[in-house]
Parts: sequence; C-alpha cells; structure tokens
Amino acid sequence: MTLPRHTIAILGGGPGGYEAALVAAQLGADVTVVDSDGLGGACVLTDCVPSKTLIETSNAMTLLNRSAELGIASGGLHTVNAVRLYERIINLARAQSADITARLAAEGIKVIRAKGHLAGPGVVATPDTEVKADTILIATGALPRTLPGAPPDGERILTWRQLYDLTELPRDLIVIGSGVTGAEFASAYQALGSRVTLVSSRDRVLPHEDEDAASHIEDVFRRRGMIVLGRSRAEHVARDRDGVSVTLDDGRILTGSHCLLTVGMIPRTEGCGLEAAGVKVNANGFIGVDRVSRTSVPGVYAAGDCTGVQMLASVAAMQGRIAMWHALGEAVHPIRLDHVAATIFTDPEIATVGVTQRAVTAGQVAARVGKLPLATNPRAKMAGFTDGFVKLLSSPGTGVILGGVVVAPRASELILAVSMAVEQRFTVEQLAQTFAVYPSLSGSITEAARKLMEFTPETLLFAERNVVARPRLTACRPASRRDNRLNPSPRAGRPRPGPGR
Ligand SMILES: Cc1cc2nc3c(=O)[nH]c(=O)nc-3n(C[C@H](O)[C@H](O)[C@H](O)COP(=O)(O)OP(=O)(O)OC[C@H]3O[C@@H](n4cnc5c(N)ncnc54)[C@H](O)[C@@H]3O)c2cc1C
Repeated sequence: MTLPRHTIAILGGGPGGYEAALVAAQLGADVTVVDSDGLGGACVLTDCVPSKTLIETSNAMTLLNRSAELGIASGGLHTVNAVRLYERIINLARAQSADITARLAAEGIKVIRAKGHLAGPGVVATPDTEVKADTILIATGALPRTLPGAPPDGERILTWRQLYDLTELPRDLIVIGSGVTGAEFASAYQALGSRVTLVSSRDRVLPHEDEDAASHIEDVFRRRGMIVLGRSRAEHVARDRDGVSVTLDDGRILTGSHCLLTVGMIPRTEGCGLEAAGVKVNANGFIGVDRVSRTSVPGVYAAGDCTGVQMLASVAAMQGRIAMWHALGEAVHPIRLDHVAATIFTDPEIATVGVTQRAVTAGQVAARVGKLPLATNPRAKMAGFTDGFVKLLSSPGTGVILGGVVVAPRASELILAVSMAVEQRFTVEQLAQTFAVYPSLSGSITEAARKLMEFTPETLLFAERNVVARPRLTACRPASRRDNRLNPSPRAGRPRPGPGR
C-alpha cells in the first residue's frame, strides 16, 4: 500500500517559500506555491538582487575612477547612463525570477499567481481557488516602513523599491536611515556620482554592527565627500518643484534632488487571515516561530522576513527548508543564528560571522580579539586600496575561532574561511597553518590567526581587547596544539539532530 502524498501549500514565493518548495518536492510531497508578485519574491525582484546589481556597477565605477592611480591613462570623465543601468537591473531580476520559475516547474511544483490567505484549518484560498494541505508555510515577506511625515511619491521621495523606475541618477540624494540598507545605497550612489547626505538618528552609521567596522566605513564615507549627519532624526519630507526638503527634529532643513527612505521593514501579513487562523504575532506584527519554524498553530509554519527573525535571504531560505524537513519527518537541526554569515555591501564590504566584539565587551563571551589592517597586505597594495581589516575572535582557553569580521573589497567572499572555521570549530592554530595563496587578501586571515597564536607582551598589544578572561600562557598554547584531544568530537556541544523543540 502506498501512503498518500503529504500536501503542502506555501504562501509566498520568495527565498523562504521557493527554497522550502524545492526541499518538500525533493522529499516527495505534493507542493503548491501561491505567490502574488513573481517567484523569487522581493528578494529577487526589488530588494537583494537589484541592489547588489546596482552595487556591481558602482564598484566598477569606483575602479574606473581609480584607473589613473593604477597606471591606466584616463579616457576622461566616467558617467552613468541611468536608463541603461536600471534596465539592466530590472532585466537581470526578471531573468533570475524566470530561472526560479523554470526550476520549480521542472520539480513538478504547482504555482498559482494570486494573493492568498489562510481560510480555515489546512486551507489556503485565493480569489479563484482553494488549496487543501496537510502543512501550510507562510512566507509572505515584509514591506518598506515609511515615515508619517514623508509619504513616498515614487518620483522624489522614494523607497528603495521605487529607485529603478527613475530615469536619471539622483543628483543630490538624501538617505534617511543609516542601517544596512541605507549604508549600502549611500555608498553605491556616492560611487556612481551622486552627492549624498546620510541622515542617521544614532551616534554613528550601522549602529548594530561591529563598532570598528562601522567607524571605519563612516570615515571612508566622509573622506569620499559624503555628508554624514549623526544624531539627526528626519521628521518631515516635502516635495518642491524639482527637489525635496527634509526637516530634522532640531529644525535644520536639508535640501536635495531626491530622498530615499531606509527606515526598516514591516511584516507583510495584512489580509493573510492570521488572526482568524489563530496564528500569534509579536508586538511588531511579526509571526512568532520557534527554531524549527513552527507557529502557534499546529501544521502552520512560517519563514523569512514575515517572522522578523533575521532579515536575510539565507536565513529565510534556511527557515523554510527546516520547516519542510520538520513537517515531513526528517531529522532536523533547529536554526542556529549565531553562525549566520552576513555582509553589508558598502565599499569596502563588511562581512561578519559568529561571536561579536560587542558580546565580548558586554562580558557575555570570553574571547581574545585580534585585528590586522589590510594596508600592509601586498595584494591590497597592488590593487591600490588601504581601507579594511581582518578581525578574529577566539576562545581564550581552547583557541577555537568564535567569530570574525572582514572589511575589504569582496569581504562577502573572504568571510567563508572564517565561517568554516567557526562552523567546524577550528582553532587559531589550524587556521594559521592553512595555506593561503601569495599574494592574496585571504593571506591576511591566516596571518591574523598566526598573530592570535602569539602570546608575548608585543602580541598582547595586537590583541586589542581581551576584556573578559585574559588567557594565561599555560592555558593558551598547549590548548591550541592539542585541540583534538581537548575536543575529541569537533561537533561537541552542538544541538543533536532531532525533531526540534
Ligand atoms: C535593499 C535590500 C537588500 C537586501 N540585500 C540582501 C543581501 O544582500 N543578502 C541577503 O541575504 N538578504 C538581503 N536582503 C534581505 C532579503 O531580501 C530578505 O531577507 C528576503 O527577501 C526574505 O525572503 P522572504 O521569502 O521572507 O520574502 P520575500 O522575498 O519578500 O518574498 C515574499 C513573497 O511573498 C509574496 N506574497 C506576499 N503576500 C502574499 C500573499 N498574501 N499571497 C501570495 N503571495 C504573497 C510576495 O509577492 C513575495 O513574492 C535585502 C533586503 C533589502 C531591503
């Protein structure tokens, strides 16, 4: 006798939804995705993919503008053709969405292009049809938050989703909000030739990120001519005939050609029928989930930005996959957010993984912290840049790498070495003994590890902060040498596979 196929309905076709669909189909489930705006979701169509495509062009522009310094006769002023740039961005996003659509079709996943909602136990309804399912996954994403005094008009006052409809580059761009999205767009548009003012309500840009990295990038921004206004809260944005004026809460008025709002996200759950279905949300409206993506209602899971857990495509996708593994009875690791590698795509990029220096300073984790500037790296010299650093954090007792920060061009690629070290519990010694290509930026990662192995008065100067527990010579050296004896299982202390909480 064959068992009936497990039926799954997924509301939302972004990374949280489509990655889940692929896993569920692979495991033999009968899967239907209901999506209103196009597969790939906001990630592919309006947020992550378009912004990273824009940033690729801004990186090329930065390089072109440095061509004389690199010994290339400059052909004159490099300018951006905004229409071609935005056309490329939109086409690339659509092509990515089409690839995902084809992949889902190839896996036999049904896709319904419609707005859907929960309509009773095990039912997702659209205006035209109803899908009955054993398991439902909600992955409806989030929307840009706006300010009451600054309604976007899509022409001068914009959310990032409206940027690609412009026909010109903003001449004088005022970016409100200095979190990750604000910093990325401010960096990109400055490189493309816009005059940029970045309005930050906090002391510094990127208030939630590694302090050294944030101060570093703020210095770079200012050096390149960006106006960065700290402790400045925008209250009101008005549209003039061909520009905008932004009123700050202290009465100052800024004028520019365009204003970009990057003040966070709100969950996109309105009309999804959560309340009637009994799905609990938190005070900010995000769906409450546990570490295997279960909501408060049995059989209903949620993944991605609508949960507000960590607004990254990689996290959304992992939450979605975990939900399916769990629902379909596979062994599953509850999600581990402390190992998520993330990047802020400014120039230079800021990539981070694992334990933060903030946690060390707050006394939550004992760690040695070592930081190595990139300015002395030969490859950096050849490429003509001096900004950036590598920072590693290691356990004082065992030498195990706990986390790291890389500030460099393409730090998003370099962080993988640190990420693997954190995931696999490598020691500083193991990382230090790993071959790196000469010359390469990754050579600075192994060099930073070698520096952390040293324990002399000189290297204590290098170990910038050793706040909680300063390692004793006897505790540090032998531990890193006989790591395998100290940690017979490199996975010791990890959650065991199981059905989750
Ligand atoms: C500017 C920007 C840049 C970013 N860059 C990065 C990056 O570089 N790396 C990274 O990891 N993350 C990045 N992110 C975050 C990333 O885009 C999100 O974390 C990711 O999109 C979340 O995926 P999701 O599946 O939860 O939602 P989404 O991608 O928002 O997809 C949700 C889908 O659900 C559909 N939907 C909504 N409601 C309904 C409904 N009622 N019925 C049917 N369908 C519905 C929507 O149409 C959409 O297709 C960025 C975000 C922004 C704003």
